[in-house]
Amino acid sequence: MVKPFVPQLVYIEPRALDYPLARKLRDKFEDMGIEIRETTSHNQVRNLPGDNDFQKYRNAKSTLVVGIRKTLKFDTSKPSAEYAIPFATGCMGHCHYCYLQTTMGSKPYIRTYVNTDEIFEQAEKYMKERAPEITRFEASCTSDIVGIDHLTHTLKSAIEYFGKTDHGRLRFVTKFAHVDHLLDADHKGRTRFRFSINDDYVIKYFEPGTSRLPERIEAAVKVAEAGYPLGFIIAPIYLHEGWKKGYGEMLERLAEALPQKAKQDLTFELIQHRFTQPAKRVIQKNYPMSKLELDESKRKWKWGRYGIGKYVYTDPEQEEMKDTLKGHIGKLFPDSKIEYFT
Ligand code: SF4
Repeated sequence: MVKPFVPQLVYIEPRALDYPLARKLRDKFEDMGIEIRETTSHNQVRNLPGDNDFQKYRNAKSTLVVGIRKTLKFDTSKPSAEYAIPFATGCMGHCHYCYLQTTMGSKPYIRTYVNTDEIFEQAEKYMKERAPEITRFEASCTSDIVGIDHLTHTLKSAIEYFGKTDHGRLRFVTKFAHVDHLLDADHKGRTRFRFSINDDYVIKYFEPGTSRLPERIEAAVKVAEAGYPLGFIIAPIYLHEGWKKGYGEMLERLAEALPQKAKQDLTFELIQHRFTQPAKRVIQKNYPMSKLELDESKRKWKWGRYGIGKYVYTDPEQEEMKDTLKGHIGKLFPDSKIEYFT
């Protein structure tokens, strides 16, 4: 069982201490006996302990920086939401395929932002622009926010904030089961709580440092019982020997565990495994022993964002994936909605 994340080292930007949350976190980490260092900017967090890149990378992933979010322009977040809402960046998990490895580059440590009221004000502006249309905010574009929230409770305040809005919806996804503190949040049904799930093979070989499937399912049951709209992202769908059986069993276990009520408002998002060439280089550096198959010749090349091509599965493979997963989902969760396959 993966324990709730505890950082080995904490950096606090001095200006962050103007915000009550930073002071609260400082006191909390002091009480926990964690080493705290002050820094003037997160760019200064360069001299992380470690003799080589490999160790530095691992140490960074257990380092937490308490800072201020300066850029308040939100990125778009298609296809799951209109905007990405930035509460944190980085993640303590070690999923081999994780896109953060390329997007976070040389700064893989975890940052949490304490100026949440300013972030909410910005969200309010975006909601006003689109009203009376609903605006969806995705809170897990740059981190696994649930994985650190037992420490910060930022997500909890966001859930309660969006519970009070008329035109805002919050959504996020996690691979962590540490959800207990979120169960009594006053969500008013305006937050969709999603879990990223995968079959045993993928979790075992490619998702070290995250909660295992039974733990995620158990957490999803708690979340459903707390009345949250629930969703599952099956990602990355990865072809390996026995994948059809693996994904079938995963969905059966889920169907057995979930209360009937949750199955009536359930969403699924299906994302096939893909990689770019820069990502492949980073994965091979950070996880040199990985069994992850990254052979361009077996894949189909597709234009990606910023002109960087990505390698996806071939068309017949994609069809087979879609048919298999949609077949199981249709049978086991007839009232659910598949939002997209990509
Ligand atoms: Fe990346 Fe999510 Fe895994 Fe964290 S849990 S390493 S964000 S894929």
